[in-house]
Amino acid sequence: MKTTLRLAERARELDAADPLGGMRQRFLGHDDAEVPAYLDGNSLGRPLAATLERLNDFVRSQWGGRLIRGWDEGWLALPRQIGDQLGEHVLGAAPGQCVVADSTTVLLYKLARAAVAAVSGGGTRNEIVLDRDNFPTDRFVMEGIAEECGLTLRWVEADYDGGVRPEAVAAAVGPQTALVVLSHVAYRSGYTADVPLITEVVHRAGGRVLWDLCHSAGSVPAELDAWQVDYAAGCSYKYLNGGPGAPAWAYVASRHQEDFEQPIRGWLGAGDPFGMGRDYVPAAGIQRMVSGTPPILGMLAMQDMVALIAEAGMDAVRQKSVQLTSFTVEAFDDLLAPLGAVLASPRDPSRRGSHITFDHPASREVTAGLWERGVIPDYRNPDGIRLGLSPLSTSFAETHTGIEAIAAGLGATARP
Ligand SMILES: *Cc1c(COP(=O)(O)O)cnc(C)c1O
Repeated sequence: MKTTLRLAERARELDAADPLGGMRQRFLGHDDAEVPAYLDGNSLGRPLAATLERLNDFVRSQWGGRLIRGWDEGWLALPRQIGDQLGEHVLGAAPGQCVVADSTTVLLYKLARAAVAAVSGGGTRNEIVLDRDNFPTDRFVMEGIAEECGLTLRWVEADYDGGVRPEAVAAAVGPQTALVVLSHVAYRSGYTADVPLITEVVHRAGGRVLWDLCHSAGSVPAELDAWQVDYAAGCSYKYLNGGPGAPAWAYVASRHQEDFEQPIRGWLGAGDPFGMGRDYVPAAGIQRMVSGTPPILGMLAMQDMVALIAEAGMDAVRQKSVQLTSFTVEAFDDLLAPLGAVLASPRDPSRRGSHITFDHPASREVTAGLWERGVIPDYRNPDGIRLGLSPLSTSFAETHTGIEAIAAGLGATARP
């Protein structure tokens, strides 16, 4: 009880001192009594109030008012425009290298196919390196590509409460490596990979790297250009608050755009789409990543979040994120560890992203009960509870409320 009071007070102090605290008011539902703790913003970010207006206005004046003229008046350019904004404020990428399209799954396929085609070196580079702990879609897509293209998968192991380390990658790459596919922040443990070092290790072996930033974009700063990343992709409905099913983004470094041949050739990735020509001639630059008609409605919301991140600055966002995860680890030690929960995320803040995972045998049962009461963490098979701390929409008090409720739930299952 004493611990709980002290933690509650700490949460209040941290909220009071938080320079970004006021931004939470700009999200819808933050004061909703029905959801006392939303700790799953890393799976689906909350909407911004500005988004409600933007959607309303778009349907009324843009779609309703401009009709088909809208395509020429800006919609066709939107995927690249938002890509550039993401590059500037979130990803550390100069203009012309990012585009919004498809889903992460589809973009991973397109990027990886293009990458292995570009580096296969007459068939001698025939391996894709990936890790067992990566998100299922990443593994499934690479398994499919390996089958389709006659490549071999080389698996690296990741530490359970950590992730893939540079030494593990160094031991796996060589003259046979075409591509390495890894996550910047591991979806389960939250481990933050050393992107610049691993990228360098792969380049020294003559391969290329495709980084998945689904769990970092918008919460952990990225410097794709400075880190010499080859290809990257990520979704926009997690820390970029683009809404359910919002299209993903892809990055192709300028130096790789000329030999970039993605497998889903479509008319809007062609150089002269309205020429309705006979042959596919790819567009110059990042536009060739596009296949078909861009999902404009789906890319409206993320613009509000990118604007908010630009206003806050990624460094400040990261600082808040580190404070939130540190407070969560502190609360974990005080309230959850005594109940038998085991931390499955790094303790070193510099090596973790914006979520904390722990294991407890009653995770599934307890999470189901909490969801009904509006305390929303994420259950991860088989025993994990993941606490996603979206820096701009999550308060310390809310985090404390959630962890206290989880502790009460776990405590109740322990009683005979
Ligand atoms: C969320 C997530 C995805 C999701 O892919 P979709 O195509 O958007 O369903 C892929 N990879 C990682 C690492 C993720 O965290």
